[in-house]
Amino acid sequence: MTLDRKLSDLKGIGEKTEKLFQKIGVYTVGDILLNFPRTYIKYPDIKGPTDFVQGEMTAVFGQIRTPILNRKTRSMEISIGTLYVEDEPVELVWFRMPYIRSQIHTNQDYVFYGKLTFDGGKWKMDQAKPYLYEEYIDLQRHLQPSYGLTKGLSNNTVTKTVSKSLCFLNVIPEYLNDAELLSLGLCKESESVEGMHFPTSMESLMENRKRQVFDEFFRFFFHMKTSLSARDEVINPFLFEKKEVYEHTLSNLPFQLTDGQNQVLKELISDFHGANVSERMIQGDVGSGKTMLAFLAMLYHVENGYETAIMAPTEVLARQHYETFLQYKERFNLPYEVVCLTGSTKASERRYIQDVLNRAEGVFVIGTQALIQEKVTFRHLSLVITDEQHRFGVKQRKTISDKGENPFVVVMSATPIPRSLAMILYGDMKVSVMTDLPAKRLPIKNAVMKKSDRNKIFGFVRSQIKSGHQAYIICPLVEASENSEGESAIEYSKMLQDLYGQEIQVGLLHGKMKPKEKNDVMERFFNGEIDVLVSTTVVEVGVNVPNATVMVIEDANRFGLAQLHQLRGRVGRGEAQSFCIFVDGSSGKEKNKRLEVIGSSNDGFFVANEDLKLRGPGDFLGIRQSGDLSFCLADIYQDADVMKQASSFVDEILATDPDLMDDNHRQILSYLEMFQSKIYTNL
Ligand code: ADP
Ligand code: MG
Repeated sequence: MTLDRKLSDLKGIGEKTEKLFQKIGVYTVGDILLNFPRTYIKYPDIKGPTDFVQGEMTAVFGQIRTPILNRKTRSMEISIGTLYVEDEPVELVWFRMPYIRSQIHTNQDYVFYGKLTFDGGKWKMDQAKPYLYEEYIDLQRHLQPSYGLTKGLSNNTVTKTVSKSLCFLNVIPEYLNDAELLSLGLCKESESVEGMHFPTSMESLMENRKRQVFDEFFRFFFHMKTSLSARDEVINPFLFEKKEVYEHTLSNLPFQLTDGQNQVLKELISDFHGANVSERMIQGDVGSGKTMLAFLAMLYHVENGYETAIMAPTEVLARQHYETFLQYKERFNLPYEVVCLTGSTKASERRYIQDVLNRAEGVFVIGTQALIQEKVTFRHLSLVITDEQHRFGVKQRKTISDKGENPFVVVMSATPIPRSLAMILYGDMKVSVMTDLPAKRLPIKNAVMKKSDRNKIFGFVRSQIKSGHQAYIICPLVEASENSEGESAIEYSKMLQDLYGQEIQVGLLHGKMKPKEKNDVMERFFNGEIDVLVSTTVVEVGVNVPNATVMVIEDANRFGLAQLHQLRGRVGRGEAQSFCIFVDGSSGKEKNKRLEVIGSSNDGFFVANEDLKLRGPGDFLGIRQSGDLSFCLADIYQDADVMKQASSFVDEILATDPDLMDDNHRQILSYLEMFQSKIYTNL
């Protein structure tokens, strides 16, 4: 038995289902075993009519007194029945399920589970799932896995397929021996994998998850610590003899650098003159002025004839940096080339860029990942900076050095990680922390409001725009969807444009737009042609429009604290007073604790800390934390202890048995092999 068996080798899994699984990246038995649920559903207690809440997933108990009616409309078949819950009628509606009529008997007890709505004066439930009473009570005892799906692939199919693959559990290599398991306080791999899919209790789920989190950190540190050791000793071949232009630029900046910026700049320049090529991570809260730092560091290299690159996570950001760098070029009268290379750069433009790289002395290259993926070649690439991205990690560094380049690497990030954690996570990098924000910044004023305050909010946004400013409105969804509640950017922008009329320009930005459309919209927002930008979280990182003074975050309760903090960082970037309004979209009367935290402080470190305190065990099941730390399960804050454990465990192994010759360690390689294809996705 091996884990690379095809899914269709499992009994009852055909090629059609196999294809669907491939769409979610599941090819083999090993893949499905490690394809953990996104979240778990605990079926709620059965509710009576007095406790009904509109929009809630609810279980109701009752009887249908008259047979279900099937009706045909032009597009589909509809089945309708009336359920009586203690004499309160609830209309049950099913689409395309005519067979339901024969499955449900009149005057018999059933539990129906689905989303309750109150519509036209009566309670309704669409596509309700029927259960026998005992069946439902049994279901309630366990947490039910809920998997990532794709069209045509149901949760039920995934669950069944997982069950069928469980007989391969013991094939997963166990790389920890009993003594190690005991001293690390971890459960067995096979137990953990099974329990991740089918937890028997919340407590056991926490244990099983802990093992997986350890595994994830183990893989991360193992690759980090083995693939980078070769780099330590790269001799610094770069010479910095000229600095006239750099100094001249420094003395002509439009503002004074903050102490933090000055300090980091000093550290960087000392790196550049060091004996070896090195890597540094710069942490600075949103708005602390990292772009200017990047520009100055790059200029220091460019003046000496080298090529430098700054990489942004999105095309929108790359375009923005490009515009900024072009402005600097003009303002400081710099004789150097500035080029931009992204995924949507045309072939002719690409050839031009390559030509520039072939001949020019000193180039600023701005781009996205395309920069390293495309076949551009450099003559002497001396510095690569990544902006707003955590895991510019081992993989990219390797790609670059595989091309024969060994530049200095600088990673800039706004995610507040305590220094002690950063030292572990970026073990191989030097860490700088900027704690100050530019002077003359007024702290952002925050407010937490309800949807019912909407008119007030729209009035406030209008008044800010009338006084010459701009606004962001963030919605959780791109378009309205049946399964997900929350404002959708497309509908919202239409509604707002109707409301404001011609005098205010409303723009729309979301991830489903083509790169070119996104760039156009952002450009119009930068230029002030768009007054209010209704957007999904694609504006989350890095966007800099200092004239924007208001941000409204709809359904803020649905976002993680880290993400809210990043979003808010888009305002408060100029000298004018800025505002952030968090709209609590929940129906409950209770105040949302997380929103109170974010509403009471602008300090990223404080927010991250409070976030940690507020998260109880099990909270990891719901909201996804900041997406930029691309671990799947692990959360560097919550799992800090496990992270430290894994890091020292790897150190220990590499110190005593670097080639994994010990019998005890043989399993490590086969374990890591299972992740071969995924190896770098979280590095
Ligand atoms: P972030 O650190 O979030 O990337 P940016 O680099 O985008 O922040 O800077 C935010 C804004 O602050 C920009 O408009 C930038 O020009 C401005 N800025 C940067 N440094 C200073 C400074 N020392 N004094 C005043 N404004 C500054
Ligand atoms: Mg930035």
